[in-house]
Amino acid sequence: MGSSSPQLHIFFFPLMAQGHIIPVIDMAKLFASRGLRTTIVSTPLNAQLHSNKIQRIKDMGIEIEVVLIKFPASEVGLPEGCESSEMATTPEMQQKFFKATTMLENQLERLIHEHHPHCLVADVFFPWATDVAARFGIPRLVFHGIGFFSLCASLSVLMNKPQKKVLADSEPFDVPKLPDEVKLTRNQLPTYAEGNGDTEFSRLFKEGKESELKSYGVIVNSFYELECAYADHYRQVLGRKAWHIGPISLFNKTIGKDNESRGMEASIDCHDDDQYCLKWLDSKKPDSVVYVCFGTMSKFNDSQLLEIAEGLEASGQNFIWVVRKDKAEELRKEEWLPEGFEKRMEGKGLIVRGWAPQVLILDHEAVGGFVTHCGWNSTLEGVSAGVPMVTWPMWAEQFYNEKLITQILGIGVGVGAKKWARLVGDSVKREAVEKAVIRIMVGEEAGEIRSKARGLGKMARRAVEEGGSSNSDLNSLIEELRSLGSST
Ligand code: UDP
Repeated sequence: MGSSSPQLHIFFFPLMAQGHIIPVIDMAKLFASRGLRTTIVSTPLNAQLHSNKIQRIKDMGIEIEVVLIKFPASEVGLPEGCESSEMATTPEMQQKFFKATTMLENQLERLIHEHHPHCLVADVFFPWATDVAARFGIPRLVFHGIGFFSLCASLSVLMNKPQKKVLADSEPFDVPKLPDEVKLTRNQLPTYAEGNGDTEFSRLFKEGKESELKSYGVIVNSFYELECAYADHYRQVLGRKAWHIGPISLFNKTIGKDNESRGMEASIDCHDDDQYCLKWLDSKKPDSVVYVCFGTMSKFNDSQLLEIAEGLEASGQNFIWVVRKDKAEELRKEEWLPEGFEKRMEGKGLIVRGWAPQVLILDHEAVGGFVTHCGWNSTLEGVSAGVPMVTWPMWAEQFYNEKLITQILGIGVGVGAKKWARLVGDSVKREAVEKAVIRIMVGEEAGEIRSKARGLGKMARRAVEEGGSSNSDLNSLIEELRSLGSST
């Protein structure tokens, strides 16, 4: 595109879920920092939640526009204002939430008609967006928010149905036609893995996979060196056109210091100060603190929270433990904590009730381990920070991510979660928490795991630098979009 050509304009349309919106805002910032015009399609509540972050980006001189659509919550029987997947706290509400996402087509069409973007990057859960883009003659790119390994493994399960070959839900089967031998059980598979269309979600899952081939291509938040065999497999064997441009959160750092809250503002008990955790960490020795966080969706019951508390205490390690605010508020009396827990843990453990500045915590030199639910953003953030992980997958594609972390990369150990359970997670005993935390922090193999994790962290940083694999793939994607843009 010559200097007289119009500025290339990309529309980003993430699923209304924080784990999808956060990397998309980072992505919009990344593209805008390369001179493209970027617009995020959001809903009033989500736009409000992220307004501070967007403002900080604008303050850096990087222009991101936000345009609004109305989320049809009441039309599907959800309370007005229930505009984000985290707010749909029961399986029934989740069904309604995903139903509502299928009703956004007209609004997206109107916005594209008004704003004339050259390209639409839309979430995998909007399979119909490919047709909308086609009506305007613009390419649609799919954004999954997951990595190559789970893209390949979930496609293998969908296409080959290996889970049908075993008799019991706990009997392991091979996930076929992958670069490595990977075993799973039916218990660990998402309920929608077969895409059998019995729920809104499984229908969307199947259509989303199909839209990979119908769309112009796929943007993957990963880097080549992390899962090269699977990046190759996805492109060469499964035939998907894909660009890897991650870790997007790390790319962010090359543009400006903006990882503070990754969305919401941090909240630490009565200390409403982003910096409180970091100051607390400053007083600790390198690699002496384990960070415990289960993403934006998980909902543990009281007895599980108690097991975690006991396990952390028994491990003898320093910790920062994030408990979601709705849970903490719901249980004002904090019956989920063992008697006298916080008093005993003073100086040793910090409970964050609500939202923690995760990326900054992980990057702090005092943090030497991460207990994670294996959400893909958290996984990549742990990899980027070079910290060993305790894997505690719960739902979505998290059991696949666990395999990548523990078996393929060897940078973590499993806590022993055996059963996929939407939002609530499988129950895990305190002894298992204690044992796994000790293994990654001070156990016999801790040194080896740490050095592997550090090595990958370095590779992640190199990938986003000038000449690195993700930086180069981002350049080629932008070049390709520019050449398409100039021909439309
Ligand atoms: N996150 C955060 N602070 C929190 C909880 C979550 O910054 O207290 C961020 C985290 O850094 C990650 C995202 O929220 O970027 C969670 O995404 P992930 O894919 O790991 O999990 P999900 O919430 O989608 O299950």
